[in-house]
Amino acid sequence: MSNVEAEPVALKCGTTAREAGAGHGAAVEVLSAREVPLGGPRALLVRRTLPQRARTLIGAWCFADHYGPVDASGTGMDVPPHPHTGLQTVSWLFSGEIEHRDSIGTHALVRPGEMNLMTGGHGIAHSEVSTPRTTVLHGVQLWVALPEEHRHAARDFQHHVPETVRRDGAEIKVFLGSLAGSTSPVRTFTPLLGAEIVLGPGAALTLSVDPAFEHGLLVDSGDVRLSGTALRPTDLGHLPCGTDSLTVANDSATPARTVLLGGPPFEEEIVMWWNFIGRSHEDIVRAREDWRAQSDRFGRVEGYPGGRLPAPALPNAVITPRRNPRRH
Ligand code: MN
Repeated sequence: MSNVEAEPVALKCGTTAREAGAGHGAAVEVLSAREVPLGGPRALLVRRTLPQRARTLIGAWCFADHYGPVDASGTGMDVPPHPHTGLQTVSWLFSGEIEHRDSIGTHALVRPGEMNLMTGGHGIAHSEVSTPRTTVLHGVQLWVALPEEHRHAARDFQHHVPETVRRDGAEIKVFLGSLAGSTSPVRTFTPLLGAEIVLGPGAALTLSVDPAFEHGLLVDSGDVRLSGTALRPTDLGHLPCGTDSLTVANDSATPARTVLLGGPPFEEEIVMWWNFIGRSHEDIVRAREDWRAQSDRFGRVEGYPGGRLPAPALPNAVITPRRNPRRH
């Protein structure tokens, strides 16, 4: 079953919209975070800005968790082997170190300024544990929804260390897509932008962007304005598509750290439940059963000292598809 016949879910930004000046003065929507305990026996509290009632996706970005800075010398992060399907995970740290093991056989460290992109297409399993030498854990965990034609892609793991671009008092690291003259070589299944932008005190930056992209600016620290709209730390500001530039300004006397996400509006309805993305309730039921049955679909994670995360019970109701509410 597929929802390809479903009504388009977001504004299409073509020439007409640009000519009509759709992006000029477009309002930034401020999305606030809610606190969620991350799964596993030793829960880490994360701040989730996607998905939420007001917005499911920004481009294909469908999940944004922001955590720390938290003292990780005692507990930190310990997420036992768990499955993913229909999505990619992007791990980006500001401080600390996470040990990643997956069912491809990858054993990698996630470090500040280094992006790990894991493709869970048809099925993958992985564990994430902060290393014993990590004292402060601080970063983001992001998911990308895969489009219908690629949602059963083979499992994959890519690592990339972006260069630092310095401009107008800001330091920019582009881990996915292109920004400020810097382009990531990492392949994605839909056009995407992902970049860390650190602004010095009082810095203001104007960036050329693709008018077909909508953007989200996640604020880690500082009093930041996105195209004139004030954002507080932990906020995600959403700028609709149709604009060919945006501004990011730091009103603080200390550096401000942000993460800029972007992509063309994702037109498909998706069903998200636990660590799975599908197109129907049946997709989710099947994925859950495959994990329960230890199917080859997700494979095995070697080297994690402990058991796997069991899937939670399915809700009694049919899981309904999510799409972006229309903006007025
Ligand atoms: Mn995961």
